[in-house]
Amino acid sequence: MTRVDCDVAILGSGFGGTLLSIVARKLGCSVVLVERGTHPRFAIGESSTPLADFTLARIADRFGLGWLRPLSKYGTWKASHPELPCGMKRGFSFFRHEAGRPFAHAEGNANALVVAASPNDDLADTHWFRASFDAHLVGKAVGDGVPYLDRCECHAVRHTESGWELDAARPDGAVHIRAGLVIDATGTGQALAPALGLEPVDPAGLLARSRALYSHFTGVARWQDVLEDAEPGATAAHPFPCDDAALHQIIDGGWMWVLRFENDITSAGFSLDPERHPVRPGESPEQEWGRLLGTYPSLARQFADAEPVRPFVRTGRLQRRVSRASGPDWALLPHAAGFLDAWLSPGIAQTLSAVNRLALALAERGPERRRRMTEYGPTVLRELEWVDEITGTCFACFDRFPVMGTAAMLYFTAAIYCEERERNGLAGPDDAFLLADHPEYRATAGHLLRKARTLPASEADDFLAEAHRLLEPYNSCGMCDPGRRNMYPYTASRPTK
Ligand SMILES: Cc1cc2nc3c(=O)[nH]c(=O)nc-3n(C[C@H](O)[C@H](O)[C@H](O)COP(=O)(O)OP(=O)(O)OC[C@H]3O[C@@H](n4cnc5c(N)ncnc54)[C@H](O)[C@@H]3O)c2cc1C
Repeated sequence: MTRVDCDVAILGSGFGGTLLSIVARKLGCSVVLVERGTHPRFAIGESSTPLADFTLARIADRFGLGWLRPLSKYGTWKASHPELPCGMKRGFSFFRHEAGRPFAHAEGNANALVVAASPNDDLADTHWFRASFDAHLVGKAVGDGVPYLDRCECHAVRHTESGWELDAARPDGAVHIRAGLVIDATGTGQALAPALGLEPVDPAGLLARSRALYSHFTGVARWQDVLEDAEPGATAAHPFPCDDAALHQIIDGGWMWVLRFENDITSAGFSLDPERHPVRPGESPEQEWGRLLGTYPSLARQFADAEPVRPFVRTGRLQRRVSRASGPDWALLPHAAGFLDAWLSPGIAQTLSAVNRLALALAERGPERRRRMTEYGPTVLRELEWVDEITGTCFACFDRFPVMGTAAMLYFTAAIYCEERERNGLAGPDDAFLLADHPEYRATAGHLLRKARTLPASEADDFLAEAHRLLEPYNSCGMCDPGRRNMYPYTASRPTK
């Protein structure tokens, strides 16, 4: 039997759990990293954001992980790790499709929205090819002396007066782990939930509603080429190439993400309202994929030569959330505590924000650590609630694209405000993700999001003007500007308070 006695046991070796194990070790904790599978392995959740990158750089600087910093920007990533596949992400692009009709450029970009998140390619964000990225981090953890147990399945987890006891099995025998503190970084695996009796929150209370159908593909055409073939000059106003983005293709009752990597692989998936797109009895995932593409001629064009390189994944409803996410000696990373949707790519950034806060807790001992651990959980749950508010509202506005665009601005404005605070050294060490704990911003956003959910499309212009006025104290980058006609270049912003 393998016996491990340690300060911190981390279950799950995605980038979140692995990074935390590296930091914990750096802080002098004895740690074990436990993984059910093996690396490299496929994982979804691939699109980073400026806020994710700032947090990654902050973790690198704060905890002396110089090797990590280059991975926080496209230019330094490519220069330092050309062997690690990634994709360039200059920002976000959105296009509204109509069933049965080819996408056509509309006057004033009424069916398109392109938002730059970086000033040039070097400073761009990245799409992480998770199989390679996560395996690279695990290699770093092992190199730093983190004991790593893969193919390790926990079958009994007990929370005792003095800490945690875990019984697990590996192909080469039984494993017993005693740990003072346990972190659940297993995402959908939710390894700690049964031991702690964590109740799932009724998903009926969550605004966002979606299920997913996705794979990795070769041969996906660039959307810019599809647009230009249909109408030369159609992309002239785009502030950056719209494929170097988290490309959001919006359809009736859903949307599709398209994320290009530079190894000829493209990650693509539909996120679908389960009521408007129920799974049809007897229809395979491949058939459903083909039927959806067939409904939207320009998407069919983009995927005409595409081939899946792995089996499709078809999920049930994606939204989930537990009732508690931490105690004095345990915590769930955000993806174990809940999930909403890939819309606007909040997952990586929220996970890194949580890793940073948990690392700060592990840097403490005694009552201060217990306080930080206890406060961590409610913060994560408030963040998920906030992301649900934005995501669910955007989904409710898919049939009113201009209103949806203004709702999405609530996310962009908060993200850019947080980035500016990071850039100007004003971010607090414990700041919640995306202004989730900022009462004034949440109140303003709450008012606008509530209004968006039922607003007639005919009032979209007035709504944009109202958002522009109300967001003024936070809007350092000129979001919600009707003069931009939905095309937002990266603009130098003013310092924030
Ligand atoms: C369809 C979809 C699309 C998404 N798209 C995006 C996006 O574009 N951008 C973004 O920022 N986020 C996205 N996300 C969210 C993103 O996937 C998560 O935020 C991210 O993967 C969290 O990383 P993690 O390391 O915490 O957990 P995970 O990546 O979920 O890793 C969990 C690890 O734990 C292991 N494990 C599971 N159970 C056990 C167990 N019992 N014992 C031991 N190990 C176990 C797994 O094998 C895995 O290695 C998406 C999520 C989904 C579902």
